[in-house]
Amino acid sequence: MLGRVPMYHVRSLDEVVDLVEASAGEKVIISDVDNTLVPRDARFEEFGRVANAAIDQLEASPSVARVIALTNGPERSVSRMVSRGNKPWTSRRRLGLRRSRTPIVVVGDQVLTDGLLAWRLGATYVHLVIDDQGETPRQATMRRIGRIVRGALFRPVATGGCTHSEQPS
Ligand SMILES: [Mg+2]
Repeated sequence: MLGRVPMYHVRSLDEVVDLVEASAGEKVIISDVDNTLVPRDARFEEFGRVANAAIDQLEASPSVARVIALTNGPERSVSRMVSRGNKPWTSRRRLGLRRSRTPIVVVGDQVLTDGLLAWRLGATYVHLVIDDQGETPRQATMRRIGRIVRGALFRPVATGGCTHSEQPS
């Protein structure tokens, strides 16, 4: 059984970068896309531009070794995105991280998919929700259940950087 992993709450991509840069060493970032990097109501034409700009911003950080944009959604216009990602069950092998020792930071808006993936990987979880108003009933229900279970999976961390690097045993 894994222990709890750290969970941070942030409100913007800038805060994600600050957090990742607050501790020494490079990290692999696995980021959700919908409602994390791209607003939920983004039109199809702007989706690719916003997603690519967000991935560029993360990759520009000297503390970021690699960015994996991972969505459970269908293929869209962004070739750098891993689609139909099967979160939270995605394996290290599928992500090309089977032998990697680099600490992982998972960024996402849903505890039940993104958060649980972070927990499975022994990663730090950074909770970023662009917009939690006017969600679909399914998304809202997932978010409510996520709030109930998160105490079992995560240690809330108020400030400081992502120094956590433990690997699942
Ligand atoms: Mg999402």
